[in-house]
Amino acid sequence: MSWNPMPIEELWILLSQSDSPSLLKKFLTLELYNKLKDKKTLRGGTLANCINTGCLHFRNNAGIYACDPEAYTVFEEIFNKVIKEYHKIESLCHPEPYYGTEEEIAALGNIDPEGKMVISTRVRVARSHTKYPFIPACTLEDLLNMENDTVTALKTLTGELAGQYYPLARMDKATEAQLVADHYLFRHDDITLRDAGLYKYWDTGRGIFYNEDQTFLCWVNEEDHIRLISLQKGGDLAAVYKRLVKAIHEMEDRMTFARRDGYGYLTFCATNLGTTLRASVLMAIPNVSKQANFDDFLAKHNIQSRGTRGFGSAVEDGVHDLSNKHRLGLTEYEAVKEMLNGVLAIKKWEEELAGMKKNA
Ligand code: ADP
Ligand code: MG
Repeated sequence: MSWNPMPIEELWILLSQSDSPSLLKKFLTLELYNKLKDKKTLRGGTLANCINTGCLHFRNNAGIYACDPEAYTVFEEIFNKVIKEYHKIESLCHPEPYYGTEEEIAALGNIDPEGKMVISTRVRVARSHTKYPFIPACTLEDLLNMENDTVTALKTLTGELAGQYYPLARMDKATEAQLVADHYLFRHDDITLRDAGLYKYWDTGRGIFYNEDQTFLCWVNEEDHIRLISLQKGGDLAAVYKRLVKAIHEMEDRMTFARRDGYGYLTFCATNLGTTLRASVLMAIPNVSKQANFDDFLAKHNIQSRGTRGFGSAVEDGVHDLSNKHRLGLTEYEAVKEMLNGVLAIKKWEEELAGMKKNA
């Protein structure tokens, strides 16, 4: 492991003296800390590598990342507790992938057929190559080889999925900023990712692939090795999800991705394990979000709210990014349905409140 976290003893002091709301803080007892603090993965990944960012920054739900796929085994006593609590599952079991039949996918329909509330709809999944460790444990050569493997596969996609790859290292700053502003490209200013070791050798091996319409995108070596994304304006969830499912099948025909019994597809962040699927809408909910019971309502419907520009960003003009919270212990189709049902409930509530305001 060639990036250095803070010494584990210092991290422990920071965490134990903090009032972090993270699951790491909740579950890493002194006893467990003492048991795990000197363990290592074969690549040299330590507890400090996994919890560095969670001890320095307190806004993450989990507070712990797998610096290396083997970390899920070596540090399973802490990971499994965090995973079960985050995904609200009793035991670590995960179903086989199930994306839904053609009819079931069509039945997802359009969340906002009137085109009044949903700005855009996006569904993404993450995939990890079996041959390479997670990014903090990668060498420079790993990053370049992995980029090459991924891009070689992407370039053989045809039809609606055909597109071009744009490496970050050769992108001018104005283009990069525009792609970020348009919600297509990842940012590079997340201190929680930085302190988890993800910005190592930035921008080597990083980039984005997209089709002509910018409705199918692939992030290469951002947080995970691969993020497949389907995105379009409006609320046509059926169309967005259908395109993503097609992309997943096409990429799985071309390469093998890391999976593990009970954990589903392996990802860098424990909150993404399983289906790895996050289905979201960008929607303005200025009335609902002011209600005292907004957070309870979200929790009841297993919905996570993020800011307008993604994880850790602020809400601008009442526009929230609303997505399914759970990804493990349910199928892909169920995860999308969870988002759909939750967002429909929030939309209905927002319409009622807006109507009441108008009539008042
Ligand atoms: P991810 O879970 O894919 O890592 P992030 O929270 O990091 O998501 O956000 C990545 C980008 O995707 C941000 O620019 C965010 O605004 C954008 N995004 C998320 N959901 C939507 C959506 N429904 N429509 C448009 N952009 C979206
Ligand atoms: Mg992200």
